Amino acid sequence: MQDVITIGESMVVFTPVSSPMMRYAETFSKNVGGAETNVAIGLARLGHNVGWVSKLGKDEFGTYILNTVRGEGVDVSQVNRDPDFPTGLYFKEIRHADDIRVSYYRNGSAASNLQTDDIDQAYIKNAKYLHVTGITPALSESAYHTVIQMMKLARKHEVKVVFDPNLRRKLWSEQKARTVLTEMVALSDIVLPGIEEADFLFDEKDPEQVADQFLANGCETVIIKLGEKGAFFKTENESGYIEGFPVPQVIDPVGAGDGFVAGFLSGVLDQLPLSDAVKRANAVGAMQTQVKGDYEGLPDQEALHQFMFQQDNIDV
Ligand code: ATP
Repeated sequence: MQDVITIGESMVVFTPVSSPMMRYAETFSKNVGGAETNVAIGLARLGHNVGWVSKLGKDEFGTYILNTVRGEGVDVSQVNRDPDFPTGLYFKEIRHADDIRVSYYRNGSAASNLQTDDIDQAYIKNAKYLHVTGITPALSESAYHTVIQMMKLARKHEVKVVFDPNLRRKLWSEQKARTVLTEMVALSDIVLPGIEEADFLFDEKDPEQVADQFLANGCETVIIKLGEKGAFFKTENESGYIEGFPVPQVIDPVGAGDGFVAGFLSGVLDQLPLSDAVKRANAVGAMQTQVKGDYEGLPDQEALHQFMFQQDNIDV
């Protein structure tokens, strides 16, 4: 039985090395990129049982991703290999820390062809939490139907559904995104939007006001990520702002939101009070900003405790 199962696409990500601009770069670094595997890796490093459900091409890049994610301690037994479609790719140009440009080569990838029949329903039914993002339904009609079906299956079997909207404007129209992401909020128990995504969905920038909109739309817990300021959480019974952890300088902001989700779920699995789970989420998010790469900064238990202990002592 897995503590958390996540469903979604991972790709090989290439970053220009010899020049920050793709048009001039002659060398690229290669890594694994994907919001869902970032969360899975974060949870595995913190000692939880986590499984990743996906599809990869039966190609060299697919083998590379599988080996990397497996090597981080994530169960990859439910990742199918498809001989007819390739593994997706993307390129990440880091022109400045606040000017990161992404080019996708994922149309027609193995994962964008995800079908309900690809997934072993018993695997989902036996988990404690199902984590999904708003990226998967943007990949194709079949990926959309699959993720919605799995959310419904989870709810039917009392598996808590955790949803990060992860809005990707390049993948679909604003109108379609708003409709589908709102549909997914209604099928979720816990929703973790960034404040900009919350504003996109409900046209409201105030965390307290917009949190009410999420609860009114059907979820029971909402946690709004507020960047360096930390986060605001709300349920029917409690709410509060939890301050972020100060960092000397952001090295790479990508993946902080995924680290936050991993930290939060880790806290909930360890049965911390909600406010302490959000505090752990803030710590993991902050740590992820300190290292280049989408998941490299995610801590193990020892590093996390050391970071939180040091910060608490600075506060005193
Ligand atoms: P993304 O999806 O791009 O990773 P997001 O919008 O989902 O981002 P953010 O609010 O940017 O998420 O960051 C997630 C969490 O990471 C924050 O709530 C906070 O806990 C932590 N964090 C992010 N940036 C900083 C920072 N500059 N200093 C300290 N903590 C940060």
